[in-house]
Amino acid sequence: MLYIVATPIGNLKDISLRSLEVLKSVDLIACEDTRHTQILLSHYAIHKPTTSFYQHNRFTKAAYLLGLLKAGKDIALVSDAGTPGILDPGYNLINLAIKNNIALTLIPGPSALINALVLSGKPAHEFYFAGFLPNKRKAQQRKLQELRKFKCTIICYESSHRILAALEDMAEIFGAQEIAVARELTKKFEEVIRAAPRAILEKLQPSRPRGEFVIAI
Ligand code: SAM
Repeated sequence: MLYIVATPIGNLKDISLRSLEVLKSVDLIACEDTRHTQILLSHYAIHKPTTSFYQHNRFTKAAYLLGLLKAGKDIALVSDAGTPGILDPGYNLINLAIKNNIALTLIPGPSALINALVLSGKPAHEFYFAGFLPNKRKAQQRKLQELRKFKCTIICYESSHRILAALEDMAEIFGAQEIAVARELTKKFEEVIRAAPRAILEKLQPSRPRGEFVIAI
């Protein structure tokens, strides 16, 4: 069986009893980064073999893991943080397992998008998850123009080195509209800034922005 296991997005205590039980019981844990997951496993004294399953080996490794599943092994799939399958290579294995009639389940837990959506204070009854905005500036601007037409809350992920450029473009496209920028969710320096993009930019610009970001528009 394939157990997709959500793991903490910052605070190691954000893991369910069932997730720990599963991680202790499987034959193998497929991790986006084995060293990163080892911190979690050591914290909970879980001693299980791990194998890396990441962006650059996702096709060959998914096929290898499928072979083990077909041979009757139980595998847990975890990502670096949050719910596997949401913007990480997890999707490839999940999809392959489904196509091959492998039994699978998700042990629920954290996802940065849900924390940010709820903490933003924006309507959450209808929302659109846009993932990461395009890297190239022109493509990003086009994407934001497209998103502007939406009538619901929009959530996007952003990294620390691209957040200022994204806010510049949002200031152009969304004007004075209040957005929310959440960073370091569940961590010691968790912060949610709710203001117009320009005001958030002015707040973040003086210090080099650090951490991981989610934006709610
Ligand atoms: N699978 C993950 C999930 O369920 O949230 C998302 C993986 S995605 C590759 C990583 C992105 O999620 C980061 O660049 C950031 O935008 C967001 N993220 C993850 N942890 C976060 C945190 N603690 N605070 C804010 N954003 C976070």
